Amino acid sequence: MNQSLKRDTICVQGGWQPKKGEPRVLPIYQSTTFKYETSDQMGKLFDLEEEGYFYTRLQNPTNDAVAAKIAQLEGGLAAMLTSSGQAANFYAAFNICEAGGHIVSAATIYGGTFNLFAVTMKKLGIDVTFVDQDAPEEEITKAFQPNTKLVFAETISNPSVQVLDIEKFARLAHSHGVPLIVDNTFATPINCRPFEFGADIVVHSTTKYMDGHATSVGGCIVDSGNFDWMAHKDKFPGLTQPDPSYHGLVYAEKFGKNAYITKATVQIMRDLGSIASPQNSFLLNLGLETLHLRVKRHCENAQRVAEYLEGNDMVAWVDYPGLKSSKHYELAKKYMPDGTCGVISFGLKGGREDSIRFMDNLKLAAIVTHVADARTSVLHPASHTHRQLTEEQLIEAGVRPDLIRFSVGIEDAGDIISDIKQALEKIK
Ligand SMILES: *Cc1c(COP(=O)(O)O)cnc(C)c1O
Repeated sequence: MNQSLKRDTICVQGGWQPKKGEPRVLPIYQSTTFKYETSDQMGKLFDLEEEGYFYTRLQNPTNDAVAAKIAQLEGGLAAMLTSSGQAANFYAAFNICEAGGHIVSAATIYGGTFNLFAVTMKKLGIDVTFVDQDAPEEEITKAFQPNTKLVFAETISNPSVQVLDIEKFARLAHSHGVPLIVDNTFATPINCRPFEFGADIVVHSTTKYMDGHATSVGGCIVDSGNFDWMAHKDKFPGLTQPDPSYHGLVYAEKFGKNAYITKATVQIMRDLGSIASPQNSFLLNLGLETLHLRVKRHCENAQRVAEYLEGNDMVAWVDYPGLKSSKHYELAKKYMPDGTCGVISFGLKGGREDSIRFMDNLKLAAIVTHVADARTSVLHPASHTHRQLTEEQLIEAGVRPDLIRFSVGIEDAGDIISDIKQALEKIK
């Protein structure tokens, strides 16, 4: 497909490219397997000597078309879908970081990713050091170790909506010979393309804005193809040394720029198996077709809601990167000039208890464990997504105990504000 197309066009038409007589709309290849004529043809696929579909755990045409659309939206080289954002984050890291390895991660990240790094990956022998992403470079540099394999952060953190200085993080990663992995879930490629600022790999929970309708849990890993694995040969043996499970094939030699995503597909996905279902990928693709329209509306609505909250005297504080009062306003302007996201975090003067009472009185905004979908929704991270964290970890993760995560939908902004108003009245 034409590489110069704008993002709006890629949303609608990227990915599936039908040939003569084929369905105009992305078909759902609801098939676990694919037929061949000779045993030899199939053997070549298993040896990675030829390309082709043979088993949906490895590749499926519906999934691949959607992955290609997301890769194109991000300006990346190639992508792989996963069954969830959690799987995407795990595979993105595990693809290059094995037992004995170490990760430098921003502390203000999604609670699920925090647990993944701090608890589960630790059990696999992988250590993590969390850093304050706003700290100066001289400070963050101290977190690196000889066995550090990657740097991880979120473009806009969930739920504290901190904006990442992507160029600073890319500089830090590259000066230590490792790639920067950015979780771009909240910004989406409509508002920010981290590769343009030096990120090497982008991950998504497609469950959020990309699907946008809360129908399908999913994830995606996108590779820019820019990181030179061979230049850091000793650090990344998984890519630069022979893989015994493919007769000694060396990914970086055989697949060049596609080495990372190929290994993620034919080794990590083959062995761990968190694939996206073709049915879910079809729904994800429908969501992507309107992503550019919805994201714009989410941002417009969130700006109005944030301004309303800021002017209300029951509200103690509001964090939204689109507000001039946000400490990340300038970073947001630089990295996301067209808007940031629809998520606002704020707290009430009545503290944790009032925050919970306020939420219970909302009518339009629903209490759900979800964020970034078409319907306005609300969550109290300290009681829900970040419940397993200690008070200390909560503060480190940028989650104040009174923090309300308010995900502004694409309804009428006036109706959303009226709902907030009546709920605030009730707890006076
Ligand atoms: C939700 C989320 C995840 C986890 O994704 P799932 O699809 O729920 O597994 C990871 N990162 C961020 C930023 C998220 O918002």
